Amino acid sequence: MSRIYNFNAGPAVLPLEVLEEAQRQLIDFNGTGMSLLESSHRSKAYDAVHQEAIANIRELMGVPEDYAVLLLQGGASTQFSMVPMNLLPAGGSADYIDSGSWSHKAVKEAVKVGTVNIIGNTVKDIPTRMPDLETLKFTPGAAYVHLTSNETIAGAQYKSFPKTEAPLVADMSSDILSRPFDVSQFGLIYAGAQKNLGPSGVTLVIVKKDLVANAPESLPTMLRYQTHIDGDSLYNTPPTFGIYILMLVTRWVKAFGKEKLFQQNIDKAAKLYAALDGSNGFFRGTAEKQYRSDMNVTFRICPDGQTPNEDVEKKFIAEATAAGFAGLKGHRSVGGLRASIYNAFPVKGVDDLVAFMKNFQDKNA
Ligand SMILES: *Cc1c(COP(=O)(O)O)cnc(C)c1O
Repeated sequence: MSRIYNFNAGPAVLPLEVLEEAQRQLIDFNGTGMSLLESSHRSKAYDAVHQEAIANIRELMGVPEDYAVLLLQGGASTQFSMVPMNLLPAGGSADYIDSGSWSHKAVKEAVKVGTVNIIGNTVKDIPTRMPDLETLKFTPGAAYVHLTSNETIAGAQYKSFPKTEAPLVADMSSDILSRPFDVSQFGLIYAGAQKNLGPSGVTLVIVKKDLVANAPESLPTMLRYQTHIDGDSLYNTPPTFGIYILMLVTRWVKAFGKEKLFQQNIDKAAKLYAALDGSNGFFRGTAEKQYRSDMNVTFRICPDGQTPNEDVEKKFIAEATAAGFAGLKGHRSVGGLRASIYNAFPVKGVDDLVAFMKNFQDKNA
């Protein structure tokens, strides 16, 4: 067996121990004589998995009692619609911080439901950045404020969150459980699982219950948060196997220690950014320093120390791929390079990439 370094932005690397455990249990789950893939979502065996997944999330993120933890389908992209459908009353408005590709998609869906106030916009800024929190002007009476904590494509991340009068809603798809945050500062948090929490097909929603209790009855049943709160995320058949893997990932985080994991994330990113900054401009980070993401490190290659060169970037990607570093190509919408180094990405992979980069620079500067 040979596992390569997987820098994909999502679905992304999972802890090897998690994959091995799932493999051991695949055919006969916990002595039930059948795979969890074949088991009823109403079975005792599955229920234990479901409850442990939710309990672990509660524990790891310190979720208060008056918040529900939901495991849904449809990806973070469905949340772009569900949030305004449930939280934005007729005649009301919501504040959106437009910081890049993902928040922009959230805005696109929200305007279909109601009035959106764009209170910050850095979508076109180069180097990429997030709107400064101090300059934001929140709209009095807004139903909620929506932000994206980490712009996965741009590699820009909020390092702190605003104190808002209206409930704060955050798309945390690409940095959930990667650093400490205070759930009680938010009204609703959502995240596709496929970056830090597990495989694709599961969407985590953490929501303050009283915020969604009065969503319109006319909403499609599956698109009402209350349906899933009442049904404990078992109103219909949940993505059982994905939730199982998410449960194993949360177990893995607990065993590793979340504080240790959070520090490791900071250290991994710092090493990579130090390599960029120490390259005399050969490698250039694309995000403004104060907003550099600890999850998605985006950069360009400038052989003359000035101008990005796509041919040399292509060469880098080809040679890196051949050397066992997968997924370093930047998102097709922005080009360049991106190293996604989520929770499960090993420290040694970062060290080896840094060594590979130095070597590449020596040969191509
Ligand atoms: C990946 C990602 C999404 C999209 O998630 P899906 O589960 O594919 O819908 C949304 N927002 C952010 C910040 C992401 O990183």
